Amino acid sequence: MRRSALLGRVMVLGFLCSAGLGSLAAGTIALRVGHLIDPAAGTVAANQIILVKEGRIAEIGPGLKIPAGTEVIDLSKSWVMPGLMDAHTHITLGNLDLNAGLEAGYLKQSSAARALIGLRNAQDVLRAGFTTIRDVGNEANFASVDLRDAIAGGLFDGPTILTSGKIITAFGGQSQHISPEQGRFWLYEYIDADTPDEIRKAVRQVIYYGADVIKLVADNNSYFYSLAEIQAAVSEGHAAGRAVSVHVFAGGEPARNVILGGADSIEHGLLLEDELLALMKERGTFLVSTDFPEAHIAALDPGGLVFGGAKDFAALIVDRLKRAHRIGVTLVFGTDTVRNLPGKNKAEMMLDYLAVWQAAGIPAADTLKAMTTNAAKLLRIEKKRGAVAVGFAADIIATPGNPLDDIQVLRRVSFVMKDGKVIRKDNP
Ligand SMILES: [Zn+2]
Repeated sequence: MRRSALLGRVMVLGFLCSAGLGSLAAGTIALRVGHLIDPAAGTVAANQIILVKEGRIAEIGPGLKIPAGTEVIDLSKSWVMPGLMDAHTHITLGNLDLNAGLEAGYLKQSSAARALIGLRNAQDVLRAGFTTIRDVGNEANFASVDLRDAIAGGLFDGPTILTSGKIITAFGGQSQHISPEQGRFWLYEYIDADTPDEIRKAVRQVIYYGADVIKLVADNNSYFYSLAEIQAAVSEGHAAGRAVSVHVFAGGEPARNVILGGADSIEHGLLLEDELLALMKERGTFLVSTDFPEAHIAALDPGGLVFGGAKDFAALIVDRLKRAHRIGVTLVFGTDTVRNLPGKNKAEMMLDYLAVWQAAGIPAADTLKAMTTNAAKLLRIEKKRGAVAVGFAADIIATPGNPLDDIQVLRRVSFVMKDGKVIRKDNP
């Protein structure tokens, strides 16, 4: 596919912007902060001043002198923290009907339409406090790459997006029983790769088209990726500086191959056995746990065709999250919302997952860490985002209460700064 000259320029701008780490905002802004949270340590520092210059955090301290003429934002009654991250989004998906199948969407929506849906979703999630998202495919033939570049190039406000582009799978994508007359319908969002060599080539293809991260689906069929196939993806991805994330819905041998093959994260792993969770801890494999709330499962799959009963499946998910936390797997917040409940936008759907973490008894400090520190490590951006620290990008949010006491306060984000630009500032 040939790209237009405009998109080419946007891509160049995007590259310059990410290399320069956010050149959107000019000038200096001082934030007067009542309570500054360090999610890595789970601590709060009182009465701090943060100086933001040219999109980055320049200085932090209790008694900083604010230069004359500086714009001052009063957050003295708020709790301030780094912007939130979601490591498992499908930002260009609107209201997917799983019972109709992924393929129905391919017929009805162009890549451009999906990019526009993605733009709206991206704006909603940024306003809710998610300043970085990792998109893991089902994104309409690299629409997420164009969306990422348009935002990074300054055409629109939005979160930092890291994207996988197309998903690499064994033959058939995540489609089931497409009739032979229709051909390989799924190639709109997937690349078939069925040997180590094909996987290496597929990794190079998605990187060529703009992927920041490599996404595989390992266990969508009765056939699944072998250890050698996972190792091929990991060695090729890592050689190009890309983390490798792998969808494993259940557990068992496919999951073992993914962990032993050196993948950076398992996505979902909803039925992972304790032994495999322990192996993940030992190998340092992140779990992006996509803990679907019961109401979401029921809406996504009203016929119970995919998940069985929503109540029972939701209980299994809570149990798995509890076990993963107890065993000590590094947890990363990731949501996987693909269909909005009536009256809710993408961001509200993402924040619904907080209740599942509460139901599993995860301490609020650990949930916030999964949404910031841990996510930044998996995304390989922990030296520039994921903390309020000198030299970091000024991705900063505020809430009216302390999320370390009540994680649900993240539903009431009242201030959002993205790369030094104020996106939202509600009246106290
Ligand atoms: Zn997903």
